Amino acid sequence: MLSARGLHKRYDGADAVCGASLDIEKGEFVSIVGRSGSGKSTLLAMLGALTPPDAGELLIDGADLWRMAERRIADYRCRRIGFVFQFPSLLPNLTALDNTALPALLGHAMPAEAAYVRAADLLARVGLGERLLAYPGTMSGGEERRTVIARALVNSPQLLFADEPTSDLDQDTETDVIDLLHELQASEGFGLVLVTHNLELARRAERCYEMRDGVLAAFDLPTIAVARRPPSRVFGPAVEPAAPAPSAPAPVPLGRDLWGGVQRVLVAAAMVLGLVLGGDFVLGRYQAAQLRERSARAAVLAETALDSLRGEVASVTDLGDRHYELAIDLRNVGDGRAIYVMAPDMRAYVQVAQEWREVPISAEGRAAAKVQKIVGLETYRYRFRAQVTGYAQLLPNYMHVRFADTMLVSPSDTPKGEVFERRDNYYVYLKPSDIPDNVILERVHFPGKPPVWIPMPPH
Ligand code: ADP
Ligand code: MG
Repeated sequence: MLSARGLHKRYDGADAVCGASLDIEKGEFVSIVGRSGSGKSTLLAMLGALTPPDAGELLIDGADLWRMAERRIADYRCRRIGFVFQFPSLLPNLTALDNTALPALLGHAMPAEAAYVRAADLLARVGLGERLLAYPGTMSGGEERRTVIARALVNSPQLLFADEPTSDLDQDTETDVIDLLHELQASEGFGLVLVTHNLELARRAERCYEMRDGVLAAFDLPTIAVARRPPSRVFGPAVEPAAPAPSAPAPVPLGRDLWGGVQRVLVAAAMVLGLVLGGDFVLGRYQAAQLRERSARAAVLAETALDSLRGEVASVTDLGDRHYELAIDLRNVGDGRAIYVMAPDMRAYVQVAQEWREVPISAEGRAAAKVQKIVGLETYRYRFRAQVTGYAQLLPNYMHVRFADTMLVSPSDTPKGEVFERRDNYYVYLKPSDIPDNVILERVHFPGKPPVWIPMPPH
């Protein structure tokens, strides 16, 4: 159904994903594990048609997606795939029911009544039948995640991509949510691609892959599991048949089987040596250990820059006459140490046909500082003017706006070389100040007043 061929993506001259190939059949469950920064999210974004690859093909039923017209790509994204991201991105001012119905309403996938029936049904199936009218702020982490899953399924996607959907939940809730995904997969029949750090969860998949430094390779979880068992069974697979060993072996008098035991140990030792010298897997680990020393500092930095600092659009306020105020939340979710952001540069673009047309934007107050210290949550404000004509209307009457934020991130306010350049793109649909609500409501159904802005997943 979906076939990726040699997908490649570079960021700032470095390979994030190198030639990844993967086939996903209808209804299949595939998992991807790998260290932070190894390229899992980048790969998922390419598989989900959110990011175009620099090279390679994404074949959908045999046709290359990125050669299709923009409209068909958008249609694929909207109707055939669902995404569950690491952090729930529910709209705070909408109920669970409205949040869940929204993708169906926006995509015109079905009439509004049908969208609400489907949303209510899904919420009941994820165990939230009593919480249809709850607002995100009043839900537990597990409830929010269940709502996000219901929302991802409202358009009945054929494929669901889940990027570490449970990594911030406690273990029991995490297992519950993954059980739920598994059950829904069986009843709805969608293909599931799960990125997770949890090997126990990854094992449930029919196939598991590991991402290492941008390279995707099959990952043989059962082998790893054998190697992690107590030492008495480490050599098991070579000496014993693959079938489970008899649970109660006949007692052997001490000394009688001594030579047999020594031989067995020698064979096993030779095998281990052979693996160390020749086995790609072990060799890879050995090289990685050497490299780890050298790259540890770089990895800490990348982790600080990419994982410890989260950015999102907090709000967009209409100031009239297509002037707007943008508020961006930067949140330090690291271990408590400050993160310094230097030389932040925010640009704003409105999509016109296939192009991004730049519009003026300026930093307000603290956002204009050259060095920003981020300890907890910091909100930065910008003013921009989205005065363009002939803008693309992916959602009728709304502008499609991209904010591109480039910044240097460092754990020190006077860095000596240890800086990491990070680029974030935030996408929103934005309501033009001059179009009255009743005109908008003629073409798109909203659960209430048309919102000034609607956040979009990264793409
Ligand atoms: P994972 O999901 O496995 O943690 P990612 O796909 O997020 O990994 O990142 C892979 C690599 O790509 C990172 O090490 C980083 O160097 C680079 N990268 C990812 N996103 C960006 C970005 N927005 N700007 C610059 N580099 C990025
Ligand atoms: Mg990731």
